[in-house]
Amino acid sequence: MSLIPKSHPRVKSLLIREKLVNGFDNGLVAKEGLLAQGRGEAFDYLLGEKTGKTAKLAIRATAAQLLLAKMPVISINGNVAALCPKQIIKLSKHVKAKLEVNLFYANEKRKKAIIKTLKNNGAKEILGTNKKSSRRLPGIDSARRIVDKDGIYAADVVVVPLEDGDRTIALRKAGKTVITFDLNPLSRTSQTANITIVDNVTRAIDVLISESKKLSKKNPKYLRKIIDDFDNKKNLTENVIQIKNNLSRRARIA
Ligand code: ATP
Repeated sequence: MSLIPKSHPRVKSLLIREKLVNGFDNGLVAKEGLLAQGRGEAFDYLLGEKTGKTAKLAIRATAAQLLLAKMPVISINGNVAALCPKQIIKLSKHVKAKLEVNLFYANEKRKKAIIKTLKNNGAKEILGTNKKSSRRLPGIDSARRIVDKDGIYAADVVVVPLEDGDRTIALRKAGKTVITFDLNPLSRTSQTANITIVDNVTRAIDVLISESKKLSKKNPKYLRKIIDDFDNKKNLTENVIQIKNNLSRRARIA
């Protein structure tokens, strides 16, 4: 029997890893998705495996931005579908965002598995599934350039959790407001997005849902001020300082 309590962040982190591995076994997650998880785990460890002050600020700005959006869309990949399908759908209902499946490594079988998981978890409409409504996002080569004309193509605000830099840059160039969840504050995605939530998506999503509920009672002027007061670059710098401080603390202990 393990001596570490179930609530310990290390144990939680192992449970998250298990979800990803199950997702891989069930055809949702690509091999490359496992590598992305590994990179995320390393940063999560360095950040202290908890939702810090900076993540909370980014989550609040995200809630405000989603509530003010005319047409918000949440982009879903294999990792997200494996990690937190229920919460993503709950969030989409709260902020009236559409869901679009968009994969870096195009694979119809995997796409179908993701759609099935989303439907099993309560999703009604899932975009990115009809070839006739696909459009190309200029500026990227991968399969991710294909987007839905009624989804990401037309959206004003796009949430891209665990995204790659090329697509984030292309979305910004296309005039979208981009929000991401990314544990690496130094990634191109983190640095390019308008709002970066530097936290594990599995933790941050619940905080985002409750923040969205709270802020849904506020008027547009109040929400706009939250967004205007938020400084993504400053927040990212603080994340890096936090990692540096955690490292020096650990080095002293060692
Ligand atoms: P970029 O192209 O933006 O520089 P990258 O090539 O390093 O990024 P990708 O593999 O394209 O990274 O994207 C995965 C990102 O998601 C990584 O930065 C990783 O730290 C992050 N990540 C992985 N798992 C999680 C998670 N559970 N929650 C939040 N972020 C995560």
